Amino acid sequence: MSDLLLALDFGGTKLSAAVLQLQDGRPEQEWEAQQRAFSPAGADAQYSIKHMLSMARELLRDRQPSAVGVSFGGPVNAVDGIVRLSHHVPGWENIHLADLLERELAAPAALDNDANTAAAGEFRFGAGQGYSSLFYITVSTGVGGGWILNGKPWSGANGMAGEIGHMVIDPDGPVCSCGKRGCVERLASGPSMAQNARDLLQAGPEQLSQASILLKLAGGELSGITAKIISQAAAQGDLFARQVMEAAARSLGLAVGNTANLMNPQLFVIGGGVSKSGPLYWDSLRKGTRETALPHIQTKLLPAALGDDAPLWGAAGLALDLRTS
Ligand SMILES: [Zn+2]
Repeated sequence: MSDLLLALDFGGTKLSAAVLQLQDGRPEQEWEAQQRAFSPAGADAQYSIKHMLSMARELLRDRQPSAVGVSFGGPVNAVDGIVRLSHHVPGWENIHLADLLERELAAPAALDNDANTAAAGEFRFGAGQGYSSLFYITVSTGVGGGWILNGKPWSGANGMAGEIGHMVIDPDGPVCSCGKRGCVERLASGPSMAQNARDLLQAGPEQLSQASILLKLAGGELSGITAKIISQAAAQGDLFARQVMEAAARSLGLAVGNTANLMNPQLFVIGGGVSKSGPLYWDSLRKGTRETALPHIQTKLLPAALGDDAPLWGAAGLALDLRTS
């Protein structure tokens, strides 16, 4: 059997592939080689598959992997290796991706959605090493989560476990993409944070004077406001940006505390671009957690250790399991 695993990550906007060497059956700490590519606008499923296969073949250099693990940015049927659909890329409906990759790469393949692979990646190779239960949360363009319980992924009866993004924190809040009001995703995702800042400034122009650093960083235009700019402005002392960021972090924290009350995991691992917003963000996140968590429940929060590679490491874990099963 070859000592090479292939890990693939089909994200909403980018594709990543990596090969991992095994030494005496144990994975190395670093990729042997890795490639990333952004999907051009208008790319469909067929384009993504073709491009991913060409990256994989380049990394493999005529060698055969012993197994292939796949992370997919959207709902999947992990048991049968079928993609249900993608919310970002057209043409993914009911594609038997594991079968297709097995035929193309002549190695067994397994797949799961990116929240589960990221949770498994952090658990096996990142911030969750040494723990037996954790909840992984990614906060970026959306808010998603994945469970590890008793050392194993838990994806729920319908593969829908971990949807913390659609936990309702404020039933009278703004309408979410799912149709409900006041979901965590609508209050705490990156685009939501930017939207909240724009809405507040439009509704209350008297706040503009407190948002001078934010507006400067945004090029003087409300449309230039992003979550990243909000966190930069907050770090530079912009009072308005700080309030907006703290409100978003608090919303996520309220949901984390509720989740802790229900499941009491040892650890929460928080990743995604918005989680890199700095110490002020993390302070508000932890404070929000304590508002809802029961006093006897410890809520330990750690930043993700693997960054954007967490799903890819989880995919490598899937391949490793296939090889040893
Ligand atoms: Zn929602």
